Amino acid sequence: MATRIKKIEVDRELCIGAATCIGVAPEAYELDEENIAIVQEEWKELDDDVLIASAESCPTNAIFLYDENDNQIYP
Ligand code: SF4
Repeated sequence: MATRIKKIEVDRELCIGAATCIGVAPEAYELDEENIAIVQEEWKELDDDVLIASAESCPTNAIFLYDENDNQIYP
């Protein structure tokens, strides 16, 4: 299941800038000037397990993962 994830979105209403996602996957996220996580293109180089771990690390479940059919994988 190395590359099942095809899309990542951060819900800007839910994100509280806790940055734990960045701690887990620093290549995949960055905080913008409003302290909201934005997804970096480099996420595509990461394995699904790291991406899932990063989404699971989010205290507000603000990170949404989708497969190639746009089905939500997480949360
Ligand atoms: S862990 Fe969640 S709340 Fe924290 S910066 Fe990442 S997306 Fe935002």
